Amino acid sequence: MRLKVSLLTLCLVLWASSWIRGQHASMTVKGNLPTGSQALVWFKPNEGIMVQGRAIPKGFLKPGVTIETWIDYRDLNSDGKRWALLVLFPKDEWKENQVIHQVAYPELETVWLISTFFTGHGQNYDELMSINPLLPEKVRKGDQWIIPRQLLAKELGGLKIRPNKSSPEDSLDDEAKIEAYRRLLTYQLKADEKYAIYHLRKGEAIYSDVVLRYTDRVFPLEVNALSLLIAKKSGIRDVRIIKPGQALLIPIDYLASPFQPEGSVALKDEKEVRDKIKQTESLSASPNLKGVAIILDAGHGGIDPGASANGLWESDFVYDIANRVRSQLLKETQATVRNVISYPGVRNTIRNRIKKISPSAEILTSPPYRNDGENPSSVGVHLRWIVSNSWTSKFISAQGDPKKTLFISFHADSLHPSASGTMVYVPGSSGVPDRFQIRGLKGVQVNELPKYGSVTFTPQERFLGEVRSRQFAESLIKKLAQNQLPIHKNRAIRNIIQREGTAFVPAVIRYNKSSTKILIEVANLNNPVDAENLSDPEFRSRFAESVCEAIKGYFKN
Ligand SMILES: [Zn+2]
Repeated sequence: MRLKVSLLTLCLVLWASSWIRGQHASMTVKGNLPTGSQALVWFKPNEGIMVQGRAIPKGFLKPGVTIETWIDYRDLNSDGKRWALLVLFPKDEWKENQVIHQVAYPELETVWLISTFFTGHGQNYDELMSINPLLPEKVRKGDQWIIPRQLLAKELGGLKIRPNKSSPEDSLDDEAKIEAYRRLLTYQLKADEKYAIYHLRKGEAIYSDVVLRYTDRVFPLEVNALSLLIAKKSGIRDVRIIKPGQALLIPIDYLASPFQPEGSVALKDEKEVRDKIKQTESLSASPNLKGVAIILDAGHGGIDPGASANGLWESDFVYDIANRVRSQLLKETQATVRNVISYPGVRNTIRNRIKKISPSAEILTSPPYRNDGENPSSVGVHLRWIVSNSWTSKFISAQGDPKKTLFISFHADSLHPSASGTMVYVPGSSGVPDRFQIRGLKGVQVNELPKYGSVTFTPQERFLGEVRSRQFAESLIKKLAQNQLPIHKNRAIRNIIQREGTAFVPAVIRYNKSSTKILIEVANLNNPVDAENLSDPEFRSRFAESVCEAIKGYFKN
C-alpha cells in the first residue's frame, strides 16, 4: 500500500508553470521516470490528467494502449496512475488506511475530479463529501481531503471488495433499521386513497431509497413502473430530477409488511415474529458443531445457468461459494455437511478462475437426477427440498436434534441495477402452506419421491421456521457487515418476494423441513460492483468464511 518513494523519485522539477486561459488554469509538471528520463504530466481544465507519451514506459500503460503524444490517465495501469498522481500532488500522503490528498490547484480541482482520480468514479463524489463533512464543496488550496482505503480505486491499492454507499441507518441491526426507516414515514389520506409519505433525503433516489426499501418489489421493470406511479401520485413530471425534501406518496397497498400502518394485520404479524425472535433462545451446540446437520444448496446449474449480467452467470459462482463453505466446515467442524447438487466436471474443487458455464449438474437424489432448471414446472427445483427433507428426516431418526438442522441455498440475482449487496430470504410463515403434495413428477425415478414428495407444517412449525431463520439471517448479515462485505443497504432480510403481482417464498425454503432455512442472494449481477465482487475469488472466499462464522455464532456454546 505504501508507495515506494525511491522508485518514483519524487524530487520533481516543477517546470512549466501554469498559465491562465479564461478562468481556468492549466498545469504541466515534469516528473522523473524510473527509466531515468522525464515526462510531463498535464492537468487540463475540466478534463483531467494526461501524460506525455514519448518517454512513458510500457510498464505504465494498460495492455493494448498505443503510445500517442498525450496519453489519457484512464489508459495508465496502476503503476502509471500512482506515478502521475504523485508527480502532480507530491504533498499527498499515502497511508495504510487512507490517502490524504492536499488540494494543490484549486482553480483546476473539483470534488468530482478528486473522486475520479482517487476512487475511479466521479459518482463517489457524494460519499467523499460525507467523509469530509467540514470541507467546502468549492475546494481551497491546502484543503486536506481524506480518501479512506475502502473508497480508493482498486488499482491504487484500495480494497478489492467495495462496500456500497452509506446511509445514516447502516450501523443499525435489522430491527432497529426498520424502525428507523418507519419513523421517516407519515401516513395520510388523500382523495380517498391511503398513502405513506416519504421525504427524499440528499443523495437518495426514488428507485433505491423508496421502492427497494419500502416495498417488496425488486425486479427492474417492476421497480421502474412503481417509481413512475409514485412520481405521478406525487405530482412529479421527471423522476430523474427529484429534489431532496420532495414529498413522495407511496400507496399503502404497495408497502412491505413492516411499513404498513398501525392497526394493520401485516404489521401485527410482523411484530409477533419480532417479539418471538427475542423470546426464542438461541440454540446451543459445542464449538465444533457436533450434532448439527447442515445442508448446502447452490442454485441452478447445468442447463440452467441462472441469472446473467455483466459477463457473469449465476450457477458456477454460487456453486463455488457453496463448495468453499463445505470445505471449511469439513475442515473446522464436526457438523454433518451435505451438498444438494454436484457438477460432475468440478465435484467439490474450489476454483479461483471460472471461465465457462459447467455443462452438467446433478441433484444428489438416489440415483442422481440431472438438473432441469428452476422454473416452477421443472423437476430439479422440487427435488432439492425433497432430497433435503429426506436427509433431515434420516438425521432425526438417528437421534439427531430436529432443531439443529440448517439449510442454506446460494443464489445471485438480477435486480434493479441500483440494488447492491447481499440479501437474505427467510420463509415468511404466511407464505408456507399447511400441506403440499408434489404432482407431475411421473416418470421421475428417485427413491426419495414416494416418501418425501409431500410435506405438512403445523402453524407452530411455520411460525418457528420464520423465527429461527430470521435469527440466523440476522447473525449472517451482521457477520458480513463486520467483515466489510456489502449487504443490501435498505432491508437485507426479507420474507417474501414480489413478482408480477404475486408474493411468494422460494420453493426450496418454502417446503423445507429443516428447522432453519434461508436463501442467500449473494450479489446482484445487474450491479457492476456486485458482479465484479462475485467474480473475485477473494470475495467468494471471504463470503464463505463469513457464512461459516455466522453458523458458528448462531449456535452458542
Ligand atoms: Zn437464482
